[in-house]
Amino acid sequence: SQNVSAQLEKQEIWHKDRDHFMHPWTDFSTFKESGSMVFRQADGVSLQDADGKRYLDGIGGLWCVNIGYGRDEIAEAVAAQIRDIPYFSTFGHHTTAPAARLAAKLADLAPGDLNHVFYGCGGSVANDTAVRMIHFYFNQLGKPSKKQIISRKDGYHGSTYMAMSITGVEVDHIGFDIERQLVHHISSPNPYRRPEGQSLEAFCDEKVQELEDKILERGPDNVAAFFAEPILGAGGVIVPPEGYHRKTLAVCRKYDVLYVSDEVVTAFGRLGHMFASEDEFGIVPDIITCAKGLTSGYLPLGATIFSDRIYEVISEPQADGAIFTHGFTYSGHPVSCAAGLKNIEIMERENLCDHVKDVGAYFEERLHELEDLQIVGDVRGRKFMMCLENVADKATRELIAPDAKVGNRIADECQKRGLIVRPLAHMNILSPTLILSREHVDFVVATLRE
Ligand code: PLP
Repeated sequence: SQNVSAQLEKQEIWHKDRDHFMHPWTDFSTFKESGSMVFRQADGVSLQDADGKRYLDGIGGLWCVNIGYGRDEIAEAVAAQIRDIPYFSTFGHHTTAPAARLAAKLADLAPGDLNHVFYGCGGSVANDTAVRMIHFYFNQLGKPSKKQIISRKDGYHGSTYMAMSITGVEVDHIGFDIERQLVHHISSPNPYRRPEGQSLEAFCDEKVQELEDKILERGPDNVAAFFAEPILGAGGVIVPPEGYHRKTLAVCRKYDVLYVSDEVVTAFGRLGHMFASEDEFGIVPDIITCAKGLTSGYLPLGATIFSDRIYEVISEPQADGAIFTHGFTYSGHPVSCAAGLKNIEIMERENLCDHVKDVGAYFEERLHELEDLQIVGDVRGRKFMMCLENVADKATRELIAPDAKVGNRIADECQKRGLIVRPLAHMNILSPTLILSREHVDFVVATLRE
């Protein structure tokens, strides 16, 4: 009878979900036929569905469950904070201990003089906040024409109107309008798709030159910022060529264009560092945006971390009486901040970054073995941020027709074998929890090979 009631509950959830819950980023033609898979429980690196079947989570929720599932310590910290004080506005002169402590911790971890934190509820909002902050900053400096943003094709920056406009993944714009006055895209720094025979160095210089050309075309007095993920994630885990980060930052400095490093995926250990901008790629940007791994997905939280230089300008008394009139009811939500503090404490105590440097390197190495398969054109990424690009022809890098849905078919076959991987057109993305062991890595690679 227990089994019957479990089946009835599953049916009930299926129906309510299908009829009323409009899922984000979902193709409803297939959704209505097949319904959703209901997850009931999760611990460590894996999840359990409503039938009790276990799956290794190869995508860390959505590149975010960095410390893994089922951490009682987070549950306790969150419960304690709710009992103490679940919420109070932080507008003006009020605060709570977790919001203040987490801001100080982030300032301590972030590179250079990025000592100030503005909170929101996720990555898109962190990027929107960065845009409003940059606009206000240049207005206050008496440079009101400096407003335009440059970003890259294949870059992903979120789903609010502004963040989606900055996003450069072209398929994400189909059927929508985006802001085209303020945002301008340059091409993707994807080495796999560079012209036949071009050296990586020449490819890098060409991409850097393109940024400079775009700034000059728009006019340096009109360009405010360059938005870039250190590794482009949802556009297909694209690692720009060596030197690209430093050289693009130098171009930005030359024209007083602020550099926003979108670390929504790369921060908090995914590449083996708390922040990847400086430790992995050698740059100190003006602003870092982050979310996801900040709480390991246990609660929603995002942050825009910015420099002393920006803070000094936007916090100064303004001649026109303006103050930075920006913020959200949930900016600095104490419960999310308590989860973030505990999450970082766990990461530090367990040396998770060192674990990622070690097992993440093994993950990379083992995944590269799949390059001998006929379908695998490129294995790329770093540590626990990886992608397989499947192609019709390895020699020519010709794409597989979209209606073959190869990414989905691979993901479905993996799922049958107890592994969740993410389909992304003809690619599959792997961004597991950061607590993966070598045995887990072996299982992931063996399942993919099958
Ligand atoms: N920036 C990057 C690099 C992301 O990968 C994402 C989400 O995947 C976002 C921004 C948007 O974050 P959110 O979905 O929390 O708004």
